[in-house]
Amino acid sequence: MAQEDIFKKLVAHCKEYGYVFQSSEIYDGLSAVYDYGQYGVELKNNIKKYWWDSMVLLHENVVGLDSAIFMHPTIWKASGHVDAFNDPLIDNKDSKKRYRADVLIEEQLAKFEEKIDKEIAKAQKRFGEAFNEQQFRETNPRVLANRQKFEELHARFAKALNDNNLQELKQIIIDQEIVCPVSGTRNWTDVRQFNLMFSTEMGSTSEGAMKIFLRPETAQGIFVNYLNVQKTGRMKIPFGIAQIGKAFRNEIVARQFIFRMREFEQMEMQFFVKPGTELDWFKKWKEIRMKWHQALGFGAENYRFHEHEKLAHYANAAVDIEYKFPFGFKEVEGIHSRTNFDLSQHEQYSGKKLRYFDPEMNESYIPYVVETSIGVDRMFLQVISAAYCEEELEKDSRVVLKLPPVLAPVKLAVLPLVKKDGLPEKAREIIDNLKFDFNCQYDEKDSIGKRYRRQDAIGTPFCVTVDHQTTQDDTVTIRYRDSMEQERVAIAELSKIIGKKVSMKQLFEKL
Ligand code: ATP
Repeated sequence: MAQEDIFKKLVAHCKEYGYVFQSSEIYDGLSAVYDYGQYGVELKNNIKKYWWDSMVLLHENVVGLDSAIFMHPTIWKASGHVDAFNDPLIDNKDSKKRYRADVLIEEQLAKFEEKIDKEIAKAQKRFGEAFNEQQFRETNPRVLANRQKFEELHARFAKALNDNNLQELKQIIIDQEIVCPVSGTRNWTDVRQFNLMFSTEMGSTSEGAMKIFLRPETAQGIFVNYLNVQKTGRMKIPFGIAQIGKAFRNEIVARQFIFRMREFEQMEMQFFVKPGTELDWFKKWKEIRMKWHQALGFGAENYRFHEHEKLAHYANAAVDIEYKFPFGFKEVEGIHSRTNFDLSQHEQYSGKKLRYFDPEMNESYIPYVVETSIGVDRMFLQVISAAYCEEELEKDSRVVLKLPPVLAPVKLAVLPLVKKDGLPEKAREIIDNLKFDFNCQYDEKDSIGKRYRRQDAIGTPFCVTVDHQTTQDDTVTIRYRDSMEQERVAIAELSKIIGKKVSMKQLFEKL
């Protein structure tokens, strides 16, 4: 099945099984805003816990923060967001559709890469075991031609972005003959800058009202609190502050479901270091974060680093961790070396000293900052698209979410074989004993087969069936979601068997 079709099915599945709903659906929805249903919110909370604990529990020198969404408007002037938090937009005059010029060009670049991948896959099939990928990449004329086109376009694109040359971005779109996917034409407007911040007013009278912004990133709340945390927590550099919270961006094009939203959640960690050591820390955090992703077991080949074409105004190094979504490799997380830009700016705009006194060096300085920034929703989409699986079985088929058990919303379902003979009571008793440790679900409706399918569809890793034998010897069958194998075990063993598989500890041990 084409990847696009799989993605459509995944979106429908998320809705049908209570993971994600369109916001304000009964009013025909609000574009690029989504609500999380009963299972979605559990998965989201588990992702957040995995991130939070890996930062705050596993690192002695990383602590948490929860800063407000509303902040003094000068913060956004100082950070550069008022003047420079822009995306280049372009309209197609025929379809009246709006696009991000940089994204149109990135998609064109991805096409060259796809062509190369296709050539390689074809050759691999033809030559089998004897295939030497590196040699093929270096010698095959079609691969070389596409690589050259990619490199040329990449260099031109990076230069245009760095020079902030909007005219050149348009020219690239024209020269590459990029068409609007809706109208199919190349009738483009000029490229313009568009600021992504939402604003609102604070205060009760119109004269007294102050224009404030909904934060487009959580990081600034960390910067303006860093000395509060450092002093009250007696933190010594290097140290980090982690925060999870909502962010808002008036995205020009909001497509691909929860990949790009106008209201979303970020998990950010700012790591404050001694000037001159930031690039070493950048390298360390790059590795730590990649390990965090790969520990989930979705296959190392589905992740890659992507160096930025253009460094943001505050950065001296930046890399993205990309995951192979059904619509291609895309950013999930950014790791940025932000220099001392933000703190210096806040010092200048607030007039307050934001220096750290280093007792070892006996001097004060403005720390440098390495940031790791990941979107909860994008991570959610990554997890769920990796987990979604359609399987043909001997007699029928099933849709199963192969979520890592640690992240699964429901850990176990307890199913009495029939609704009588004391089996429901026995099932309830099992739940009563386990519910303090695991999210359990009781289900007695329909045949056992149907109940298994329902649990597969929401990704429950364990189904426990209570039958007549249970009332005799206190054993049950436990069915494993992925292998569908069943095993007879003592009720007393359940907690240990399940506890081992759903504990975050086994993920943390891989980090
Ligand atoms: P993009 O290039 O995709 O617009 P970005 O480089 O602007 O993203 P950052 O500012 O580095 O993103 O934000 C850090 C992380 O926040 C991203 O890696 C992503 O996971 C998440 N994120 C950013 N914008 C959105 C959005 N509109 N919807 C959902 N998640 C987002």
